[in-house]
This record gives sequence, structure tokens and C-alpha cells, in this order.
Amino acid sequence: MLATTYRRPYKVRVDHVPDPVIEHPNDAIVRVTRTCICGSDLHLYHGLVPDTRVGSVFGHEFCGVVEEIGPSVQNLKVGDHVTVPFNIFCGSCEMCQRELYSNCRNVNSQSTAIGGIYGYSHSAGGYNGGQAEYVRVPFADIGPTVIPQGMHIEDAVLLTDVVPTGYQAAEMGDIQEGDTVVIFGAGPIGIMAARASWLLGAGRVIVVDHVDYRLDFVSRFGPAETVNFREVDDMAIHIKKMTDWMGADVCIDAVGAEAAGSAMQRLTGVKMKLQAGAATALYWAINCVRSGGNVSIVGVYGPTFNAVPIGNALNKGITMRMNQASVKRHHPRLIEHIQAGRIKPREMITHRLPLEEVDEAYHMFASKQDNCIKTVLIPPR
Ligand code: NAD
Ligand code: ZN
Repeated sequence: MLATTYRRPYKVRVDHVPDPVIEHPNDAIVRVTRTCICGSDLHLYHGLVPDTRVGSVFGHEFCGVVEEIGPSVQNLKVGDHVTVPFNIFCGSCEMCQRELYSNCRNVNSQSTAIGGIYGYSHSAGGYNGGQAEYVRVPFADIGPTVIPQGMHIEDAVLLTDVVPTGYQAAEMGDIQEGDTVVIFGAGPIGIMAARASWLLGAGRVIVVDHVDYRLDFVSRFGPAETVNFREVDDMAIHIKKMTDWMGADVCIDAVGAEAAGSAMQRLTGVKMKLQAGAATALYWAINCVRSGGNVSIVGVYGPTFNAVPIGNALNKGITMRMNQASVKRHHPRLIEHIQAGRIKPREMITHRLPLEEVDEAYHMFASKQDNCIKTVLIPPR
């Protein structure tokens, strides 16, 4: 089959690799119909994720058709159309019982504490991903959700990550009726967090980025007020001025490892106004939230990232919550929101390309070319 394989930092390509096979009675094989590139894939692409092996297959956002099931699988049948959460989880351990699927004890790496994720390096279990024609889905009775009748395939594929992660970002902020929410990052995750903030009762939503076309998009999709951080000298003062000197009730970090900023600088040649090596978005989030407010982090960092102004956080008495999204937990509610038209995920899809053009697709998404927000790859067939 054809699959997206990692070659080296800034280089992926489509290769012929062996078809996946059932390795365990609980496995299914899914024929991929749509798959996306995520901001998290950029951390792999930039060579920032430990133990990313040459030749491994990328992709944790995919939906498709069940092609084959192992002998123990009962909840799926061949021919079902499914959307598959990016987390791989057993469904029965102590963590899964608490719906902390991203922290499943049976799949979690004890050394890095990263849960099982499709196509996300050997530090996340070494599972091959779904930017391919076929993918092996472990715990097939537990992870996949059968796509409801009538749901658009491009909405379904965004249920694998973007919609639940954006929703969980807002949920972890514990937004109260009328709260002011400031979101750092106008990528797909920040855009969806803006939408979800309204659904959870926000009274005001402000999104910060420096990519104008993304700010423009979120100003309509959120909707949201926007701040271009290139035009701001001191972010904390700026947000305070916007909020009657109070600060935000809730700040959300939808950016993560700032090294992505320097990586982008390398790709575009555009100098970024960022402190080298610092978690600027997280730093801003802590400094922009009001005393006693909440900071929610979904942006992804390396396991031992340290540049956090923890003293400010303590002095302000803020609450910080963070996690990889537990995608499956959110599916019932989010399917309802999509069916009712309260969330229209596929509006953020800007590009649809054949899987064979994956190298160009990664480059375009990473360097923010051609007004790219979200790219869907379509495998041949
Ligand atoms: P993306 O790369 O498309 O978007 C990131 C945005 O942040 C870009 O528009 C960039 O211009 C902007 N940005 C960079 N530095 C900034 C700063 N200091 N302040 C404000 N904005 C800044 O990525 P995405 O797909 O939206 O993902 C966002 C983050 O969420 C990534 O770190 C990704 O790994 C992470 N993520 C986490 C989970 C989870 O479960 N926790 C799931 C999916 C993605
Ligand atoms: Zn993703």
C-alpha cells in the first residue's frame, strides 16, 4: 500500500510499504478514506519528537471503512464507516474507567508518559498511522465510532482530534457564564477552542496569533476578537487594557512547543518576535489570566520543557489543567453539536490533496502558505 513515511526533519514522502495485518484478535484493519495533517504532526516533521524512526508511517487523524476484523471484535462489522480517535486505549484500565483515555495504563509508555497515539513515534507506542491506504486499529471494539448516517465525511475526520481537542481545551478552562476567554493560537485547535468557548458560556472570546489569514478566519468562525501579536509590545498589558485591567478569566494555550516558531522562521524566512526557546504562548497565558483564573493547555510540549513562569502562576493563585484530549469521551456530545449545526468543522478545511502529494502538503501547512488552515489527504481508490 501507499503510506506517508518519515525520512528526516522536514522530509516525508509517500512510499510503498507492506499492508497492515491483524496482529491481535481485537484488531481491525481500516481502509482510509480521508486523513488530515495536524499541528502535532509538525512536531514530528520538525524532528522534535523523541524516537521518531525513519520509515515509520505518520497520521493520527483518519476515518475510513472497516475492511477486516479480528476474531474477538464484536462492536464493528466489515463495511462500517468509522472515525477513529487519535488515542489508542484499552477501555478497561483504571484510567480508561475515569475516561482518561489519553492516559490509558495499558498503552502508556512508563518512561515518557505519552499515551498510545497512531503514527506518533516510538515514544507514543510505535503504532503506524493513518496517512496511508490502510491502518491497523488495535482495541477495535473500543476506539472507533461508527459515523452517523448523513454526517459529512470531512466533519467525521475532524472528530478524530481537532473538534474534541478544541472542546476539551475550553472544558479544562472551566468557563463560567460570561467569562472572557483568551486563546493563544489560531490554528485548527485554537479555532475550535474559540467555537467551543461560546458553547460553554463564554461572554467574550479573544484569539491571539500573528498569521493574519487565520485571525481573519477565526474572527468569523469563532467568532472572536483578534490580536496580532506582532503589533503588541507587552501582551499582558495589552490583554489587561482590553479587559478593564482585570485580565482574562480563562487563557488557553493552543500553540505548544515554541520551537515550532523557530521552525516556521526557518521555512518562511519571516523573523518571529518570540523569545528563543521559551514557551511564549504559555508564558503569555499565565501572565494574561486574572488572579484566581484558569489556564488550560492543549499545545504539545516535549516531556521536560521547563520555561514556565511558575512563580507568577503561584502568586496569582491560578489553576492550570492540561492533557492530551480524551477524544472518545467527547464524541456523543460533539456529534450532537455538529448535527444541530452549532459546530461546522469542515469549514476550516482549506485544502484537499491526493495522498501522493503529502510532501508538498506538509510543507504548505508548516510554512502557512496559500492561506492553509487544514489539509485533507485523499488516498487513491
Ligand atoms: P498549528 O501549527 O496549525 O497552529 C498553531 C498556531 O499557533 C499557528 O497559527 C501559529 O502561528 C500560532 N502561534 C505560534 N506561536 C504563537 C504564540 N506565541 N502566540 C499565539 N499564537 C502562536 O497547530 P494546531 O493543529 O492548531 O495545533 C496546535 C497545538 O495543539 C499544537 O501544539 C498541537 O501539537 C497541539 N495539539 C494538542 C492536542 C492534545 O490532545 N492536547 C491535540 C491536537 C493538537
Ligand atoms: Zn491531530
